[in-house]
This record gives sequence, structure tokens and C-alpha cells, in this order.
Amino acid sequence: MENPMKKVVIAGAGPAGLMAAHFLSKNKGLQVDVFDANKAIARKFLVAGHGGFNLTNAETTDTFIEKYNHPFIKDAVRAFSNEATIRWLSEIGVETFVGSSGKVFPEKGIKPIQVLTKWTSYLEQQRVGILTGHQLIDFNGKEAVFQNGETTLNVAYDYLILAFGGASWKKTGSTGEWTSLFTGKGIQLVPFQASNAGIVLSDWNPELGGGVLKNTGISIDGEYKFGEIELTDYGLEGAPVYALSKKVREGATELVLNLKPVWTSQQLVEKYAAFKGSKTDFLNAIKVVKPAVKLLKNCLSREDFTDDARFLRAIHYLVLSMESLRPLDEAISTVGGISMDEITPSFELNNYKNHYCIGEMLDWDAPTGGYLLQACFASGYVAAQSVLNQ
Ligand SMILES: Cc1cc2nc3c(=O)[nH]c(=O)nc-3n(C[C@H](O)[C@H](O)[C@H](O)COP(=O)(O)OP(=O)(O)OC[C@H]3O[C@@H](n4cnc5c(N)ncnc54)[C@H](O)[C@@H]3O)c2cc1C
Repeated sequence: MENPMKKVVIAGAGPAGLMAAHFLSKNKGLQVDVFDANKAIARKFLVAGHGGFNLTNAETTDTFIEKYNHPFIKDAVRAFSNEATIRWLSEIGVETFVGSSGKVFPEKGIKPIQVLTKWTSYLEQQRVGILTGHQLIDFNGKEAVFQNGETTLNVAYDYLILAFGGASWKKTGSTGEWTSLFTGKGIQLVPFQASNAGIVLSDWNPELGGGVLKNTGISIDGEYKFGEIELTDYGLEGAPVYALSKKVREGATELVLNLKPVWTSQQLVEKYAAFKGSKTDFLNAIKVVKPAVKLLKNCLSREDFTDDARFLRAIHYLVLSMESLRPLDEAISTVGGISMDEITPSFELNNYKNHYCIGEMLDWDAPTGGYLLQACFASGYVAAQSVLNQ
């Protein structure tokens, strides 16, 4: 007798694939199986939890969706918003709190691995199959072919959801090697590039590494960000730096730091005029942090540091030359992968009915701060709804 259950095969057990499984599993008429090439699932999801598991952001939806560069991702996040993420977390037994910057974290004491364990326990209760060590190597509209060591496994499907991730942090399983799967299938791929990556500076003194610039402004090609910037032995890291990755990809060669952005240039000149003491004392008095003082002294010539006008201008307008972004594998996320022109707003491939691509394997971009994960969750949700509505 024919099995009345429709089969959904999901390849890639990161946040996008698992979220698709989560919502599909609510329909008992579907058999849902998730396969991952890696020995363990959702490694990048766990890596994202190092130093604080920022799962989404508490912004209003209108502000939130402005962070994305593609309408399909914006629409998906409208359909599955930050509030939906918080509800889903609560459903699997993870309560959350909003941090000072609007970032949403699991309640204190809940480790990233505990979030994942609660999620997989839920999925197992819902009878979702999860198989590790199975790499999807081909699909033909009826069967997905998985490689498990020396063995190949052909799995029949009615719906195939691909959630392979981007091409950074290869050790987590997000190798980007899946692009060969699409060769000969007429699906347009965009080359991977680093996003949310550190910046390598030219003529940089590695000894400046280790310092942190708090409350600092950074601009590239007129786009301005503010926050905490880490100095490393090759250049700069930190959320405001990552958010300007696109400008570096577009070929910008200079960035400008503002080490005292809370004051106008006029205020800075007036404070300096009224100050009695050395330039270093002045920087200390106006609470420019030590690493910033060291940076200024390192970047300015003795003449520029001595000259009042040039010294004051450098506090607000310190120009640094950029060499490149850090290598692809170090990037927090990547752009490139499957072109957004290849999919419908439901994340279904235009020319392959019942085949979906979700998460970071698609060519969209967003900053860190919970926006990447939110888009991955949302695309998984939207693809699941599309299957459920058929
Ligand atoms: C250091 C770091 C910090 C981060 N911090 C944050 C943050 O604070 N906030 C935020 O929103 N985001 C953050 N991110 C980004 C976030 O983790 C990713 O955007 C997200 O994990 C992507 O989810 P995904 O499901 O699309 O893909 P992934 O999580 O990359 O999962 C893809 C899965 O597919 C599997 N796979 C690949 N090829 C195959 C194949 N052929 N067959 C079967 N399986 C396959 C892989 O093994 C992997 O498990 C961070 C990332 C990093 C690296």
C-alpha cells in the first residue's frame, strides 16, 4: 500500500534547516528528516554563542527589516519576526532577556549547547529524524543522494529543502563546497565574499593589537557606524567595523576614526583652548582611552602631533589606509552563494518546484547583532509554510 505520508528531506542542520523542520513537524501528515554532512549539527549556531548568544534583536519590525539588503528577506522577517523567535524559544523551554543594546539573549546561565539540546529534544519528540555524517551529493527531483563515508544512500522525497550555510568557519561544516552540486543544473551562483569581517590595515603597527576603543566612530565612504572597536595585530575588528564590510568589498581604501564623537569639533577646540597641560594630559582629561592615545601617537608624525590644529583634527578625523578584509574563512558571514534571482519569495527554486534554498547559502547580507540568525530562522519558517500550504 502506498505510504500516505509526504516526505520532506532537509539537507543542512543549521538554524535555517532546523527551523524549517520545527514548523514542518507540526503537521503529522509529513515525514521530516534532516541530514547534515558534519559529525555534529549546528556547529556554527554554537560558535555564534561564544561570548554571548545573541539570537535576535528587540527592535521594532520596521527598523529591523532595514538591516537587510533584499526584499525577500525583509518579507520573511516580517512573517517571522523577532517576537516569533522569542515565542519559539519559549516553546522549546528557553526564556530570553533583552540586553542593553537591544540584543536578545537566552536567560543568564543557559548555555548555547543547552539551547540546541532543548531544540533537538523538541524535534525528536515531534518525530523528526536527524542524521549526521550524511553529505548531500546530488538530487534529481525524486531522490536525494547522500554520501556517508564509503556508502551512498538514496532517499526519496516529495520536498527537498537545502540549508547548506555560507562559506566561512569551514570547521563548523559551512564549507561552501556544495556549489558543485548545482553545476549543470542551470542555477546561477554568485562568488562567495566575506561579510562581517575584520579589516586589515596598511602600514599598521602590530604592537597596537590588544587595545579596545570604546564609543568610537568609524566611517568609510561616508557611511558612519559607532561602537566598540578592537585593535588587533593586523587592524580592526568589532561590530561597527563588520557593518562596513560592504564598503571594503566595493573597493574603498581608507577609513576614518572619530575618537571623541560625542563632541563637535567646536567643543573640542574650545576645551583644548581652555586646557593647561600637555597634549597627552588633554587626551586623558577628555577620557580618550589609552589605546586611542597610543594609536594617535603611532599614526601622527611628531610634527602633526605637535601642531595644535592637526592634532585636534586627528582626534575627530584619523585617516587609516585599508588593505583588505580578513580572509573568507574568518568572516562571521558570507555573501554570495545561490543568487536571489533563482528563488521565489517563498524560497522555492524558480525552476525546481518543491525544492527550496534557505539561510546563509543565499546571496543576501545583514549586520551582526542577531540579524543573521533572525533571517535564517525566518527563511526556514517561510519555506516550511510554503510546503504546509500545498
Ligand atoms: C563567530 C561567529 C559569530 C556569529 N555571531 C552571530 C550573532 O551574534 N548573531 C547572528 O545573528 N549571527 C551570528 N553568526 C552567524 C550565524 O551563526 C550564521 O549566519 C548561521 O549559523 C547560518 O545558518 P544556516 O542554517 O544558514 O547555515 P549554517 O549554520 O552554516 O549550517 C549549515 C549546515 O549545513 C551543513 N552542510 C553543508 N553542506 C552540506 C551538504 N552537502 N550536505 C548536508 N549538509 C551540509 C553544514 O555541516 C552545516 O551544519 C555568527 C557566526 C560566526 C561564525
